[in-house]
Amino acid sequence: MSTLDSALWLVRHGFSVFPADHPGAGQCTGIGRGHDPETCTDRGKHPCVPFTRVHTLDERQVHRWFDGQLRNVAVAVGACAGPGGARLLVVDSDRPGAIENAASAFGHRHTPTMRVHTAKGAHDYYWAPAGAQLGNGLGQLRGKFDGDVRGSRGYVIGPGSVHATGTVYELADPEQPPASAPAWLVTALQPSAQQPPRGAASAPARGSGPLLALVRVVLESPQGARNNRLYWAACRAFEHCRSGQLEPRAVASALADAATHAGLPEAEARKTITSAYRRGAR
Ligand SMILES: [Zn+2]
Repeated sequence: MSTLDSALWLVRHGFSVFPADHPGAGQCTGIGRGHDPETCTDRGKHPCVPFTRVHTLDERQVHRWFDGQLRNVAVAVGACAGPGGARLLVVDSDRPGAIENAASAFGHRHTPTMRVHTAKGAHDYYWAPAGAQLGNGLGQLRGKFDGDVRGSRGYVIGPGSVHATGTVYELADPEQPPASAPAWLVTALQPSAQQPPRGAASAPARGSGPLLALVRVVLESPQGARNNRLYWAACRAFEHCRSGQLEPRAVASALADAATHAGLPEAEARKTITSAYRRGAR
């Protein structure tokens, strides 16, 4: 099946798609700040468009993007809406059995769902409740799951695409639609103030109070306000650093983690934190 056929299949099943780099193209067709197509070695994954804004469910647009073009097809996870406003959640296992093992660790059995076999493991597609706060953060799954999750503002490489190793991403069963995400999984992925993101724990104890409060501000940012809130929180946190209450590296790590959890792409979060740091240094 060509990526054109796969892309058509995806949009007909309600998944919003966009083109990504294909490892067979002469050089990376991906875009993005700080990305050099000529020297890119991480092939087959980079978006060809600013995918948080540019993605489609329209078959004519799919033809324009994929007809006769060597492109992988990617799914704009955050843009996909299911029954009752459900949000798409993709669980990306880095090895076969990873999500099954994580389910067991939480005392549950894995819920079978729409699955795409990848080069290393599998993508499991679930519909999560409309109100669930799901970003790209692992929440309580961290340390218990070999893989990643993709929610709002995330994307995955879709079926029919080719991995850099030559492996084709393949639907396990085209008749199997996404199941509802099991409650244990949705709960485990919720950002929680009781579960400070990685990095917060390495801050000095006397500084953890203000940092945790600022982490919470970032975690609870609504879409559209995330970058501004992150900048604000980072400026406040670096002020605490200058008075010796917090350690800059712990601040940067904790805030980057919180922002990623809230759905901000990591590169964007790092850039915002760096500019807040530079502002303080002036
Ligand atoms: Zn690239």
